[in-house]
Amino acid sequence: MDCLFCKIIDGKIPSKKIYEDDQVFAFHDINPQAPVHFLVIPKKHIATLDDVTEDDRSVVGHMVYTAQKLAKELGCEAGYRTVFNCNEQGGQTVYHIHLHVLGKRQMTWPPG
Ligand code: C5P
Repeated sequence: MDCLFCKIIDGKIPSKKIYEDDQVFAFHDINPQAPVHFLVIPKKHIATLDDVTEDDRSVVGHMVYTAQKLAKELGCEAGYRTVFNCNEQGGQTVYHIHLHVLGKRQMTWPPG
């Protein structure tokens, strides 16, 4: 499958890995939008949030759990933002779901 993030999981494209287990992989975003900006992705290829099935609920929960655990480890005690972009109008550019985690700066609302 021609998926950038599947290739990152397989090590065919380099990344700055933070964490990996049997279900998820986390790495620093190549174009960080905050002092801390990393992505948590499932090892299973799921194209968009709209493609998440009942069977995927536990892996998506594990993504969220991993995000908060790593955010704390990376010093985001003061707070952080998590984002799933979904499809074109949601600003999604890579079609393998990923949870953005951004921290160590003040976030504003609404996002752009
Ligand atoms: O939510 P969206 O699909 O726009 O986010 C994709 C993210 O993947 C971007 O923040 C981009 O910088 C990141 N990326 C990366 N490593 C790559 C390609 C994209 O961290 N090799």
